[in-house]
Amino acid sequence: DNGLSEADPEVRAIINKEKERQFKSLELIASENFTSRAVMEAVGSCLTNKYSEGLPGKRYYGGNEHIDELETLCQQRALDAFHLEGKKWGVNVQPLSGSPANFEVYTAVLKPHDRIMGLDLPHGGHLSHGFMTPKRRVSGTSIYFESMPYRLDESTGLIDYDMLEKTANLFRPKLIIVGASAYPRDFDYPRMRKIADAAGAFLMMDMAHISGLVAASVVANPFDYCDIVTTTTHKSLRGPRGGMIFFKKDPVLGVDLETAINNAVFPGLQGGPHNHTIGGLAVCLKHAQSPEFKVYQNKVVSNCRALASRLVELGYKLVSGGSDNHLVLVDLRPLGIDGARVEKILDMASITLNKNSVPGDKSALMPGGIRIGTPAMTTRGFTEKDFIATADHIHEGVQITIDAKRAVSGSKLQDFEKFVTSPEFSLIDRV
Ligand code: PLP
Repeated sequence: DNGLSEADPEVRAIINKEKERQFKSLELIASENFTSRAVMEAVGSCLTNKYSEGLPGKRYYGGNEHIDELETLCQQRALDAFHLEGKKWGVNVQPLSGSPANFEVYTAVLKPHDRIMGLDLPHGGHLSHGFMTPKRRVSGTSIYFESMPYRLDESTGLIDYDMLEKTANLFRPKLIIVGASAYPRDFDYPRMRKIADAAGAFLMMDMAHISGLVAASVVANPFDYCDIVTTTTHKSLRGPRGGMIFFKKDPVLGVDLETAINNAVFPGLQGGPHNHTIGGLAVCLKHAQSPEFKVYQNKVVSNCRALASRLVELGYKLVSGGSDNHLVLVDLRPLGIDGARVEKILDMASITLNKNSVPGDKSALMPGGIRIGTPAMTTRGFTEKDFIATADHIHEGVQITIDAKRAVSGSKLQDFEKFVTSPEFSLIDRV
């Protein structure tokens, strides 16, 4: 059997180019990271060959004795990594990723068209928390359930818990979702618990972005207040692409969460688990219990604070004024530019980050901000000094964007992109 280079040089070449891009660029996308070689080895192993529908000890196929051992080990490590040993919590490690994990929870505890409340996407929430526009129910979550998003207080950039409380008392959702994709602050779990209890709702935390920080106890612990906790495994946790669902073992609001969630994952929404991912996840969760992992997560946060302070020094407006976690959200609107143009210019200089909507944005297509995260470059060894230099490079890119926007004829993003990629405009001379 040939290796990849001989079997398929075309795919090998593409992988090589992507590897080079990853290593040459400043990777600042808040949801990305560089997983370890050990995780990659497990993900690229023979575990991918095996079907194992069901749970350890209760499979629909033979030959699963080693897969049972692996999945049981992964579950135990997941509970240990999040300090749940001896507590009445269980976990399902089979979700294929974060969005399916969330949808599995919804189908486990809700009936079609039951009501949910999650943070609105333009205010930092995730699509899978029920995003819809006035014209269209965009996410499956808002198609199959009735969604009433909650939002930030635009004057502070913080979740408007008072408004959420009022709305929840009127809307009476059956599920309230905590968690975000672009929120630079920690969550007030005791307040969310109180709001959920008053509405008679389940409280779920989607800790996808911050699960590494939670495991290392550098942010507040959602398990003390929530009934269900979901996560992806490839962001700050630094594992393979996948998902997990943690649930309380005691019934909540009369529902046996363990049975409902396990059945929702399989046979409800998935078939065979991705055992190679579960192998990689087990490796990642072992690492997540090490002293080095705690040091790493502390650095993710201190690096982010250094980045935020430098950006403030340079005159930038940050949503909420700073950061408690691994990301900052920069509001570029006071400079008369938008996130899409800055993303384009920085991409040309191998600085990878993403345009992001900021509170008050009119259009999600031309959002007014950028999101910058520290997990990936902290894995690559970046220190606070490096992140200060990174802020300076971003600042340079923003200045170039302002100049280019002034010089370009036409107001469309395509006009801008055409201009900055033309010989007329030489970025190379500028940086
Ligand atoms: N939940 C949150 C908070 C996220 O930020 C994301 C992805 O960015 C997801 C869920 C979805 O994860 P996936 O892309 O693995 O479906």
